[in-house]
Amino acid sequence: MGVLQQPTSLMPAFANFSAQSRCMCSTTLPVTETRTESSLLPKVKTRPKFDRDFSEFLTDTFGRQHSYLRISLTERCNLRCQYCMPEEGIDLSPKEHLLTTPEILKLSQLFVQQGINKVRLTGGEPLLRKDLLQIIEGLNTLRPQGLKHIGITTNGITLARKLADLQAAGMDQVNISLDTLIPAKFEFVTRRRGYKHVMSAIDKAIELNFSPVKINCVVMRGTNEDEVCDFVAFTKDKPVDIRFIEYMPFGGNQWNFKRMVSYQQMLDMIRDKWPELERLSDGPNDTSKAYKVPGFAGQVGFITSMSEHFCGTCNRLRMTADGNLKVCLHGNSEVSLRDVMRSGVSEEEVLEVIGAAVNRKKKQHAGMSSLSKMKNRPMILIGG
Ligand code: SAM
Ligand code: SF4
Repeated sequence: MGVLQQPTSLMPAFANFSAQSRCMCSTTLPVTETRTESSLLPKVKTRPKFDRDFSEFLTDTFGRQHSYLRISLTERCNLRCQYCMPEEGIDLSPKEHLLTTPEILKLSQLFVQQGINKVRLTGGEPLLRKDLLQIIEGLNTLRPQGLKHIGITTNGITLARKLADLQAAGMDQVNISLDTLIPAKFEFVTRRRGYKHVMSAIDKAIELNFSPVKINCVVMRGTNEDEVCDFVAFTKDKPVDIRFIEYMPFGGNQWNFKRMVSYQQMLDMIRDKWPELERLSDGPNDTSKAYKVPGFAGQVGFITSMSEHFCGTCNRLRMTADGNLKVCLHGNSEVSLRDVMRSGVSEEEVLEVIGAAVNRKKKQHAGMSSLSKMKNRPMILIGG
């Protein structure tokens, strides 16, 4: 890949594409900063080069190369997890404000041509998107251009019956969220039923040889911290990777420091029972710190966004369902790629907007107490 991947003639111009879906309707966004300008933005060509083999547009001023894009496909969900969305629900964007399938695929292609090699589909609940299969099939055609992985993060409620088709369409990684092994508690945490469906989805993913099958578990004091060791025991016979996630503050989730269980506290609980717990090596951009009880089929990991941030190796960008590019999960700065794209500008200009946003990415996100006071979207509108 060259220093700067120019849009190729294989891609129809954005102007052609946007003619079908031009919409300059203004959205009221639940964030403080949203930029839509393109030509007024500074050119990005003067930034320092850290690696001549990676796109300048996706390299920030600290040399971080962004090769992982998370795309939220919907704002809707069939669960109502306490830590993710306010009890009263959220205001959904009008349908015409959401990215269409061609828009998602067009932007994905642009990102992949610049060096994104992994795309994860999230939400809301991505399985609620009716054209999910089409989206995965479209993404799968980007493999010759450099896309290596297509993943999904799902609550698993309807996954078991869809998984084989999604895999056949090209999806190769699956993360399933599950915060408790007790059916009644599942209903309390998610405010809905469905425990059995999630368990069958986990079994189906194992049966279809997804490796590893990752299970996301948000740990909250007073809710499920007493199950940390049960989750570790779950890995004895099942080849799954349980990822314990520190509870994070987002808009409307009433985060409270006292309810957060830190990585160190979880580790102490596990080591009390399994002193032989072994630290495994992590990949260069892993957000999770990996461990294993020797002899167990699966492993565990900790996502320590609150107690030990991993901003220094962050390689992620996020696109919200309404088309905003978010360069940091915990930052409230966003830029509307939807509006830029629908205005009919060239691919080069869209890239400049992306590059300028990446360029503005901060070295690290704010600390715990500032984050809890900061205005940000509810997690359901970001996508994890
Ligand atoms: N609906 C899908 C699901 O639940 O897997 C995908 C979207 S969900 C927002 C993505 C991930 O974010 C889930 O694993 C969820 O547990 C996690 N999450 C949501 N709110 C969180 C919070 N306040 N702190 C930590 N993780 C959170
Ligand atoms: Fe829905 Fe996932 Fe949020 Fe739970 S965590 S409410 S399943 S989007």
